[in-house]
Amino acid sequence: FSPWTDPASVPFIRFENVTKRFGDFTAVKDLTLDIYEREFFSLLGPSGCGKTTLMRMLAGFEEPTEGRILLQGKDISGVPPYRRPTNMMFQSYALFPHMTVAKNIAFGLEQDHLPKSEIDARVAEMLKLVKLEEFAKRKPNQLSGGQRQRVALARSLAKRPKVLLLDEPLGALDRKLREETQFELMDIQQNLGLTFLIVTHDQEEAMTVSDRIAVMDKGEIMQVATPAEIYEAPNSRYVADFIGDINIVDGKLEGVQTVADGDLATVTCYDGLKMVVAQLSCKAEPGASVAFAIRPEKVHISVDPPADPSANALSGEVWDIGYLGDFSVFIVKLADGSTFRAAQANTHRLVDRPITVDDKVWLTWPVDAGLVLTR
Ligand code: ATP
Repeated sequence: FSPWTDPASVPFIRFENVTKRFGDFTAVKDLTLDIYEREFFSLLGPSGCGKTTLMRMLAGFEEPTEGRILLQGKDISGVPPYRRPTNMMFQSYALFPHMTVAKNIAFGLEQDHLPKSEIDARVAEMLKLVKLEEFAKRKPNQLSGGQRQRVALARSLAKRPKVLLLDEPLGALDRKLREETQFELMDIQQNLGLTFLIVTHDQEEAMTVSDRIAVMDKGEIMQVATPAEIYEAPNSRYVADFIGDINIVDGKLEGVQTVADGDLATVTCYDGLKMVVAQLSCKAEPGASVAFAIRPEKVHISVDPPADPSANALSGEVWDIGYLGDFSVFIVKLADGSTFRAAQANTHRLVDRPITVDDKVWLTWPVDAGLVLTR
């Protein structure tokens, strides 16, 4: 499923040069974004970057100050929220405490004056979908947090929207339940063939559920890509740093050599130490200030110096080891006093692990594991 790679696909939703100002504050800046039918799309970014504002404009609760929003090619400016094929599920769930689960799910359908038989059928269908058939007669305060979240989801889906907007949908759930619910959401989205747009500041959640992610900063989109692309090939220092753990070091681009399978860049950092890296995130001229970046799990740590003297390598002393269960992170202090992180999967028993604090170690990596970031 990758309609965005086909130039002939028509976007389902298009934000076209959308700007939103509140007084003299610009919450969304000249933003253009396409989302495709049946896509599970995440807006990811720090608090206040404009995610919710973007979603509220699609739902019709706010109008853009400039630009337009197109749905299946039609400008939806001025169309009130209840006439849009969108439905928004709020973080607070906003369930009615005095109504049963079934009544909560039926509420929107009753407002629309659907025939009773139709309402009953849809409520039953939704209860089954979210696996709450036995809870139809309970009130929200007789449910767990996860069950309440499912009632809110059922209520949002009962009106059969084409696009479901989810604002931090799992924010109130504990970690284990969150993970389970993420897979349920993906299942439901795929079974119903709907387009889901989710707002989150949890990068792991966005990586797990999304077909594509837009990483936002201060009202602008920094990168739109699949989770793997965002992680493996971030287009900027900001995106690299926002998603996952990464070592980033300032350097200077010495030169770029074109080789059989791409560009091989040489970067000088750490007092003249040269690094050879295969991936250049965008064009830069020799002499340009760049950043060299590498994920800790791509760095190999060893007490032995590299056999190949021309390999990318740094030496230092182990300053601390963070044990994370599946992984251990080694924080290595380099000669210049800075630190560098290497992660290693804990496939061996702890007692068998040869590296401990204060050991002198070598950090090495293959040429294609590092990135050169130009902004
Ligand atoms: P969070 O993750 O904290 O919800 P967000 O990325 O969703 O953040 P928005 O809610 O879209 O951020 O807000 C973007 C910016 O616009 C914030 O600085 C916020 O204070 C401002 N803002 C949002 N709504 C209004 C409003 N009605 N009036 C004035 N400023 C607003």
